[in-house]
Amino acid sequence: MAMRDMDRGGGRDDRDRDRDRDRDRDGRGGAGGRRGFGRKKVCRFCADKTAVIDYKDPNTLKLFVTERGKIIPRRISGNCASHQRDVARSIKRGRQVALLPYTVTPA
Ligand SMILES: [Zn+2]
Repeated sequence: MAMRDMDRGGGRDDRDRDRDRDRDRDGRGGAGGRRGFGRKKVCRFCADKTAVIDYKDPNTLKLFVTERGKIIPRRISGNCASHQRDVARSIKRGRQVALLPYTVTPA
């Protein structure tokens, strides 16, 4: 543990800080180009103002649920905090009225 921490701290620190500054200048930084994922993450509900989060709309909510029925975390779905909250709440409501599964067991 101690050794690793030492390695990370040395030398790299300044460079990373410079990068962060550049990102801040761009405005929306941090999401893209980190780990070789080519996917750009934009909260789809912020991008599309007409999209509504509704618990009665399982087709939209299914996009934020894994095939096993779990809610996809924000770091993967790319939703912003407030919309992810809305989505999670709607999914939970959708489950209660049997529009969405609580869990899916493989056949
Ligand atoms: Zn949003």
